[in-house]
Amino acid sequence: MNNENVAVLIIGAGPAGSVAAAYLHSKGYSVKVVEKNIFPRFVIGESLLPRCMDHFEEVGFIEDLKKQGFEVKAGARFLRGDRVCDFDFSKKHTEGWNWTWQVPRADFDKVLTDVLEKRGVDITFEQEVVDVAFGPEGSTTTTKGANGELATVTAKYVIDSSGYGRVLPRLLNLDKPSELPKHSSIFTHVKEINRPEGREGALITFDVVSKDTWLWVIPFSNGTTSIGYVGPTEYLESFEGDTTEKLKEMMKLSNYYHNRFDGLEYSFEPIMIKNFSKSVKQLYGKGYVLTGNSAEFLDPVFSSGVTFATESSLLAAKLIVKELNNERVDWENDYTSYLKEGVNVFASYVKEWYTGNLQTIFFHEHENPEVKRQICAVSAGYVWDKTNPFVKNHDRLIRTVAHIANMEMD
Ligand SMILES: Cc1cc2nc3c(=O)[nH]c(=O)nc-3n(C[C@H](O)[C@H](O)[C@H](O)COP(=O)(O)OP(=O)(O)OC[C@H]3O[C@@H](n4cnc5c(N)ncnc54)[C@H](O)[C@@H]3O)c2cc1C
Repeated sequence: MNNENVAVLIIGAGPAGSVAAAYLHSKGYSVKVVEKNIFPRFVIGESLLPRCMDHFEEVGFIEDLKKQGFEVKAGARFLRGDRVCDFDFSKKHTEGWNWTWQVPRADFDKVLTDVLEKRGVDITFEQEVVDVAFGPEGSTTTTKGANGELATVTAKYVIDSSGYGRVLPRLLNLDKPSELPKHSSIFTHVKEINRPEGREGALITFDVVSKDTWLWVIPFSNGTTSIGYVGPTEYLESFEGDTTEKLKEMMKLSNYYHNRFDGLEYSFEPIMIKNFSKSVKQLYGKGYVLTGNSAEFLDPVFSSGVTFATESSLLAAKLIVKELNNERVDWENDYTSYLKEGVNVFASYVKEWYTGNLQTIFFHEHENPEVKRQICAVSAGYVWDKTNPFVKNHDRLIRTVAHIANMEMD
């Protein structure tokens, strides 16, 4: 059996794995990425946040990404009936990137792995991690190739960036039930023949059809648009038929978008991901760290997935470099507590979205520009900036402001 030895083994070549690999490689450490699929491969998670641009910039991905001409996302629109809430990332409380992209992830993630390979990073595709054993000196990971051949990699550290594969949570029994309501999603892509001209055609939109059910519309620069519904699992399951029939029926719920997408053929049979929220008991252990979706996933409503993936993987890579340099790392404080701060902010937003409180603020007829700038910074992913009252007091302020807004409406 083939055996290799590296300082750091990364499981999965999505944004989390690619950012970590880029950082470790740039610091001169031997790193290997093992990826189950061949790229390009489909994955959901197409609306990025400005915050993740900081991470891509830090590891030198931005210039290659810019060359692709992905659709620029300079804000996001939320609709509910005739009410509109438009966020413009240039009008936000926190300094930082004012734009990002909305991307077909197959193409986007392929750019990242191509750049890594050009830099000489060892990525092996079609290698599925099937086992990881931890010992006093590190770990031995067993992978299985496309023809069933087994290989091993010994490494001081394993970064689990396996996304929905959730390799270490499954192998080490780290899964923990999420505190969020059980929600699911059905989505596909459509080739838009008659996409509206200009901004309307390119605008990323979240159309709220009821308090807990909404549709995303994410147009890409290649003429394809991603459409997907999110709602309570039981509700999505109550629609009859296969996923195509379910999604077609659900598209009728959107007054705004029904005509635009009516009759268009779906590029692939809609995918349904049930009960997508995930959590874990711990984010690290001796010789390993969990990043991205493998660690935590909340809800797509604020498009925080990729940003959390790159925030966590870049931090994990930096802390591993410190340890490899024999510096002391306080993983509980420097990793778990830091990430939990941001996750907790997003979690409050997700919870308050589904209680309706956040929607009350978004769709209130008298906009408070200062409140909007602060919420906009959160929706851009800047959830660690304590100068923002909507970050610092995230667990209370949404309820308080919604309460005031409700009183004004009475
Ligand atoms: C319905 C829905 C909508 C979403 N929308 C958004 C959105 O708009 N914006 C956003 O930012 N996020 C969104 N997300 C979240 C987003 O999909 C993830 O957060 C993001 O892809 C995480 O990146 P990652 O690098 O952690 O994992 P991934 O991108 O999933 O990459 C993980 C990689 O690991 C590989 N892998 C898995 N198992 C193994 C194994 N055993 N061995 C080797 N390799 C393995 C996989 O093949 C994959 O390539 C959404 C999620 C859902 C459920």
